[in-house]
Amino acid sequence: MSENTIAAISSPLGEGGIGVIRISGENAIAVADASFCAVSGKKLSSLKGYSAAFGNVVLADGSPLDEAVALVFRAPKSYTGEDVVEISVHGGLEIQKQALRRITECGASLAEAGEFTKRAFLNGKMPLSKAESVMALISAKGEAALAISRAAAGGSIDRAVKEIIELLKETAAGISAYSDFPDEELVGARPCDFEKLLKKVSGKLLTLIKNYDTGKLIREGIDCAIVGKPNVGKSTLMNLLSGNERSIVTEIPGTTRDIIESAVQIEDLTLNLSDTAGIRLTDDVVEAAGVDRAKKKIENASLILALFDGSKEVDSDDKLLLSSLKDKPVVIIINKTDLKQKISPNIFDGFPVVYMSAKEKTGVGDLVKTIKEVCKISHLSNNDAVLINERQLSCVKAAYKSVKDAECDLASGMTVDAVGVLIDDALEQLFTLTGERVTEAVCDEIFKRFCVGK
Ligand code: GDP
Repeated sequence: MSENTIAAISSPLGEGGIGVIRISGENAIAVADASFCAVSGKKLSSLKGYSAAFGNVVLADGSPLDEAVALVFRAPKSYTGEDVVEISVHGGLEIQKQALRRITECGASLAEAGEFTKRAFLNGKMPLSKAESVMALISAKGEAALAISRAAAGGSIDRAVKEIIELLKETAAGISAYSDFPDEELVGARPCDFEKLLKKVSGKLLTLIKNYDTGKLIREGIDCAIVGKPNVGKSTLMNLLSGNERSIVTEIPGTTRDIIESAVQIEDLTLNLSDTAGIRLTDDVVEAAGVDRAKKKIENASLILALFDGSKEVDSDDKLLLSSLKDKPVVIIINKTDLKQKISPNIFDGFPVVYMSAKEKTGVGDLVKTIKEVCKISHLSNNDAVLINERQLSCVKAAYKSVKDAECDLASGMTVDAVGVLIDDALEQLFTLTGERVTEAVCDEIFKRFCVGK
């Protein structure tokens, strides 16, 4: 437990119903008693954990600053594992600042970014992966992002990684038994057992690596480039999905000359939409620059929504676009289904196709379903472990590499001792992920990214 008692405003800095100032540390209750006076006259130090007292934050001369409720938590049963007092004042910025100033005058120092959660981690209240997921939970946008962050905050990553650690430990124990008694053919201590275990481990690590990309799409939104030749309905679709008139919709082909971007929430997904210039051969210099940018968007997008006008026959521009989409993550949208259809859908064979009328607002449900399938989001369940950040991913990737090297070494008949070293390397990476063996510098780096008060 840290001797230093810290305090910070833990609610957002702005006007609100209440503002919460959190105090944590050995002297948290004494500091709160010096700055808060209960109406009942009782000292907070006389209260049990999980008790509340109504009163006032009081200034040095005893005058009240604001009415407040103080909540007392006693170590270790608090967020940080230390004594904690949370003082709720009225949610005005000035009131919160003055109350915090008073609390610091009474002996608390200002908390650094993420310091409460860092203390929770250092006091064994949560593994590192859970502490990190708290940050993801706070910043989650959209239901699906909230669901995976909640699972992580509930320990899904830690459970998945611990399961892998156990398998690696089992392999390491087998290897050490085999080294001591190579001729005994002990079950669980033969090279064929190590092979099986390592294969299981690499499979699990690979799933974590693959799910990371999907999780990133869920958390940060899917970068979707809306492409198609002029007048197929790209801007109309963009407006339908974003629910406003960001793109100019006209009947003159080539109106959207640059890229218009919008982040939208549709059902439980976040889509970062870019409405690009229509792709076609053009002599207009400005439009040609837009077409170039659209092509670059196609290269970089996580998903391409390629629009075609169902009321027209396929022409050379459509074919040009289609040929540039091979092997890309794409959903074909045949738009204008409200009109008589002339398009022959066979040219889209092998592509996922959705039928819509952007004008009549039909087909959005099918579009979302198909996007989820193409981006493999529908493969994820809410309880799956989904790594939260690049740090976790790099640990898992390094562990995966060591395990794959170990598999190769085993297959090529290397000594099991060499395999044992690689298993130790993989374990080290996984312990770094959970925080069991993390350096102070790494730990500081992680919590610096939190907000003050968290
Ligand atoms: P863009 O050049 O691809 O961005 O196309 P726009 O969104 O500007 O649309 C071109 C024209 O097609 C406009 O007159 C739209 O109202 C019309 N349009 C777009 N979607 C539909 C649709 O689903 N049905 C019909 N009938 N017209 C549409």
